[in-house]
Amino acid sequence: MSQVARKLAILADAAKYDASCSSSGSTARKSLDGKGIGSTEGAGICHSYAPDGRCISLLKVLLTNFCTYNCHYCVNRVSSNTPRARFSVDEVVSLTLSFYKRNYIEGLFLSSGIIQSPDYTMEQVVEVARRLRTVHDFRGYIHLKTIPEASPELLSEAGLYADRLSINVELPTRSSLSVLAPEKDHASIGRSMGTIRNAIEEASDTSYGDHKPKAFAAAGQSTQMIVGADDASDTTILDCSDRLYNG
Ligand code: SF4
Repeated sequence: MSQVARKLAILADAAKYDASCSSSGSTARKSLDGKGIGSTEGAGICHSYAPDGRCISLLKVLLTNFCTYNCHYCVNRVSSNTPRARFSVDEVVSLTLSFYKRNYIEGLFLSSGIIQSPDYTMEQVVEVARRLRTVHDFRGYIHLKTIPEASPELLSEAGLYADRLSINVELPTRSSLSVLAPEKDHASIGRSMGTIRNAIEEASDTSYGDHKPKAFAAAGQSTQMIVGADDASDTTILDCSDRLYNG
């Protein structure tokens, strides 16, 4: 197995808990031993819905599963002994282009563990999208998982290249977040989601006429929440969801 294929196996597997997709479960089948045709295994490809409702295939990977944070629920936390790997920006760009040209995928879902600092990590994630769009004129779908503690400038740049941005709200209450994801900050998650929402609204405001701002995350933003890891009641979870949808 090549070095890139080995990394792909680790970093596609590590991305499987990030919600980008609507695939349902299935049993593992393969034909690598020469028997039969087709496979339900294989690294990195999942499905999502495009803004027009089509179901599209995405290369879904982490840039790296090294992480300095210790979120208790996450297999990539710093205290986990999971196998680690890190792609370079160039490797993700060329994998995406090569899978796209071979018709395996119609887009990229990219997330990352946090290395060095939130800004450093986010710069690398944004750089993948920037190179795809501006150097290779890539017109496929891009979904970036953003890091809430990264600077607003990086979030804004991400929205210029990505169709969809997402930030995980993770848990329904501030107190459960501080117990289960001690390095994460409830307030900065909320602030970053607000920054993205404002930018999306501004980009879709028609009152600018010919001076309309550039498109920004045209397919919107999404999030995901862990249910059942804390003692939050159904009402608390629904209240939190309600605030996110309305606010
Ligand atoms: S920040 Fe937390 S959830 Fe994200 S990869 Fe690191 S340990 Fe996992």
